[in-house]
Amino acid sequence: MTKTDVSVREVGMRDGLQSISFIMPTTKKHEWAVREAAAGVREIEVASFVPPKLLPQMADGAEVVAQARKIAGLTVAALVPNLKGAERAVEAGAHKLNVVLSVSEGHNRANVRKTVQESLAEFARIVALVRALPAERRPIVCGGLATCFGCTIEGDVPEAQVLDTVERAIATGIDELVLADTVGYGNPAQVRRIFAAAQRIAGALPIAAHFHDTRGLGLANAVAALDTGIRRLDASLGGFGGCPYAPGASGNVDMEDLVFMLESMGMKTGVDLNRLLEVRRFIESVLPTDTFAGAVAVAGLPKNYRPAA
Ligand code: ZN
Repeated sequence: MTKTDVSVREVGMRDGLQSISFIMPTTKKHEWAVREAAAGVREIEVASFVPPKLLPQMADGAEVVAQARKIAGLTVAALVPNLKGAERAVEAGAHKLNVVLSVSEGHNRANVRKTVQESLAEFARIVALVRALPAERRPIVCGGLATCFGCTIEGDVPEAQVLDTVERAIATGIDELVLADTVGYGNPAQVRRIFAAAQRIAGALPIAAHFHDTRGLGLANAVAALDTGIRRLDASLGGFGGCPYAPGASGNVDMEDLVFMLESMGMKTGVDLNRLLEVRRFIESVLPTDTFAGAVAVAGLPKNYRPAA
């Protein structure tokens, strides 16, 4: 397996599919994962273990995880909103549990009906659950902090509050952290400040970035994060994954555009862009939505495109 400079992680199967009412058949989800892994994407968040009655789109999570585990070299991640979800994800065999809270109290309450302190206690319970497992069954626990760059309910989220939450989240014993601009409020200057400061707090603990392109700043924010040394970026095929609070708004950073940018900058992603564009066409044929983003898929690759050497 070739070494990569930047790890690009697909989140559309969770972030995207949960935001539309269409329920993608399990076989198509599996085909998506197989095809995207074959194009070189090494980590995919394939499901969310929320109660099936809340998100019927994710009701087949256990089966999707179990099937995705058979794909060689792929890290199979699953979002878990609480301990119950973590137990189900462990049972299914997820390699990575993405546990989440919102830094903004109002957003956290609206999302999971907990205070941030209660959510942090849940992080610690999930870490304890994982540590009690035999080593070969122990998934990585990644703590996700949503609304780090602004909140649809509270507006500003003070940077000191974000950094304080970073510190408290790390203290729960998580293995990795992801800072998310859940609602597309962030700008590159803010991204640079927060990621630089968060890495000083985190030390050797890896931090990833999760941006939405809601207001067109997704790639600019990705570059700002890269500038501070971040090497793990979330994205979704076709920029799939709208904002639930803004119907019609664009979703996550577009995977094809992100790979194009990184490879053109000389940063290896391990992803074959032509094959990735084929996966996008497959997804376009499966999803009953035309709200796909991404410029490269429309314009095509430039004649002088060269992947990073
Ligand atoms: Zn998101």
